[in-house]
Amino acid sequence: MKSNKTLNDIQAEIDEWANQFTKPYFEPLSRMAAITEEVGELARVINTMYGDKKSKDGEIIKDLEEEIGDLLFTLVCMANAEKIDLMVAYERKMAKVLKRDNNRFERKL
Ligand SMILES: [Mg+2]
Repeated sequence: MKSNKTLNDIQAEIDEWANQFTKPYFEPLSRMAAITEEVGELARVINTMYGDKKSKDGEIIKDLEEEIGDLLFTLVCMANAEKIDLMVAYERKMAKVLKRDNNRFERKL
């Protein structure tokens, strides 16, 4: 499923969804816990795929894409609740990657 949504579109879409509720976003520590839960669920999938810890018999492990989506959603909720523009955050990060870390990793020849 291909989409041309921007990060701002995604933030607006989630904000519109959240604002139908009397309490659109969890309190800060609950949002942080939700992010942490999703990181753990992502770790569980990765560990099952590549690590030594295999799934228990009959246990259904969610897929990697689903968990990355869950994590993205919780991050967007945090950004929205804190009025963070994710494009600004992204551009700041990329500026660091392109400047500070420019010679950090070995390049292809
Ligand atoms: Mg999840």
